[in-house]
Amino acid sequence: APEASTPTTAASSDAPYRDVSLPAGERVEDLLSRMDLADKIGQMTQAERADVTNETVTTLRLGSVLSGGGSSPVPNTPQAWADMYDAFQTAAAHTPLGIPILYGIDAVHGNNALDGATVFPHNIGLGATRDPELVRKIGQATAEEVAAIGIDWTFSPCLCVVRDDRWGRSYESFGEDPALVASMATIITGYQGDTLGGSPTSILATAKHFIADGGTSGGTDQGDAVLSDAELRATYLPPYRAAVEAGVASVMVSFSSVNGEKVHGSPALLTDLLKGELGFDGIVVSDWNGIDQIDGVAGFDQAEVARAVNAGIDMVMVPTAYATFIADLTAAVEAGDVPMDRIDDAVRRILTKKFELGLFESPLTDRSLFATVGSDEHRALAREAVAKSQVMLTNNGGLPIAASSRVLVTGSGSDDLGNQAGGWTITWQGSSGDTIEGTTILEATEDAFAAADAGGTVTARPQMTADSVAEIAGEIDVAIAVVGERPYAEFKGDRPDGVRLTGADVTTLEALRDAGVPTVVVVISGRPIDLGGAERWASAVVAAWLPGSEGAGVTDVLLGTVDPTGTLPVSWPATADQEPINVGDGQVPLFAFGAGLVGPLG
Ligand code: BGC
Repeated sequence: APEASTPTTAASSDAPYRDVSLPAGERVEDLLSRMDLADKIGQMTQAERADVTNETVTTLRLGSVLSGGGSSPVPNTPQAWADMYDAFQTAAAHTPLGIPILYGIDAVHGNNALDGATVFPHNIGLGATRDPELVRKIGQATAEEVAAIGIDWTFSPCLCVVRDDRWGRSYESFGEDPALVASMATIITGYQGDTLGGSPTSILATAKHFIADGGTSGGTDQGDAVLSDAELRATYLPPYRAAVEAGVASVMVSFSSVNGEKVHGSPALLTDLLKGELGFDGIVVSDWNGIDQIDGVAGFDQAEVARAVNAGIDMVMVPTAYATFIADLTAAVEAGDVPMDRIDDAVRRILTKKFELGLFESPLTDRSLFATVGSDEHRALAREAVAKSQVMLTNNGGLPIAASSRVLVTGSGSDDLGNQAGGWTITWQGSSGDTIEGTTILEATEDAFAAADAGGTVTARPQMTADSVAEIAGEIDVAIAVVGERPYAEFKGDRPDGVRLTGADVTTLEALRDAGVPTVVVVISGRPIDLGGAERWASAVVAAWLPGSEGAGVTDVLLGTVDPTGTLPVSWPATADQEPINVGDGQVPLFAFGAGLVGPLG
């Protein structure tokens, strides 16, 4: 038990629920029998760290706290995270029954909000590896960096099956194919371990966003998926089946709707399909204020709260309006609009995961794990994943690049860690620039050339124009043009008119093409992008996705140190107006799902 606990009689240390030798089920029933309605509804409530105080955690008996997006303490260090987390746990220990909180974060490609953490490729790149065991290892490494700062729960993996790349969350998907996405459910075992709580670095995983979030019309975030039941089952359900089989501890509900009905209010989807048919026995958590969208009117009310809980939501992410939620749900229960056995079912699910994780026994941070954050071992794993995620779309002799050549490294993604990492990195939407610790593609190229010591040279320019190419064209043998998208996350990343190269990158490519410079185009993007014809003249085109902190993994493939093995997890359209484009739909893509030149180069 936490030292700070000063329990009332109800929480006396010899109560059966405190007895670690008893099965979790018995402990849950004992604890539940001691809880009043306020205790129970508190457990069902999740508040945002920046909008809740330690005192409120105690007085409202909250069950959970989250960091939305990149909501981090200042300074953003392991120490500060652990101090914050431990203070919340200490506050929870001061409630009548001393029930610890669950703390959730969006660790979606490594512990990505923490300064100094290893930032792994986003899921789209992991899908390209076709390597479930590698993905399991990434889950485990991420869990180690998350557990190191106290945190219990990641809102990952996104098991969306992306069917329209105009969607701004495409990169959170492992791909367009249900079987491919399902195969990557191994990341859940990585996060949780073989059994939840089986090791000190086991954390809860979240399969999200249930269901059909990647299938909305036009790729609109939080939009509507128009589908038959058969399509829903064939395309969007398989990853959840795999997740449930892997023992996933929680499932997050999608903001989107299916045939006009918001999933947050759907008993057919949440209770009948997920909990009933799939047999999911963990926690169904809402998305951020998702209950507010059920009736389409801004601001949630008691009817929406009742509908969401009756639909099957067990814990509600109400970042700021948690006190209103508690009042509304209390009133709904008292009015008989939400049955007590629904409340008990929700609370049982939450408490079971808390017991299984071992939270009652060790609620506070084990600070000896700080050293795992950004460790050499984890960075080596990330570098391996980056190399395996590279998809060689064309190679007309441009690759491998010899370390004896005179190379120009240019383009918006050539020397920019923020661009390499994309959204959900330090901040919610991510940003360009030196936002994380790691190696850019330029730096990695310089390092590799220096190490090879073969007489090659590296010239760096952030972008090229016709004039600047003319000045150096005679002094270079090959250009590496790293072009693509700037960081974005949900909502802001939607591109209803298609995904295209922009501004300086277009100018750079045109300048290199017009000057006849042999050019290897490396695309940093969260999804297929209209290459503007570069596929026809470039000496090679490589899809690098959003590789994260270890740019050396890209260079490993460009220089031939590692043979390319990645293949496309999505169909790559010839032009933006082919969207949506998916395997089997009769359209002819520029590069098909599964395409990619593999094996030794040259
Ligand atoms: C996103 C979720 C995320 C949550 C918490 C929402 O806006 O849709 O994927 O887990 O925020 O940050």
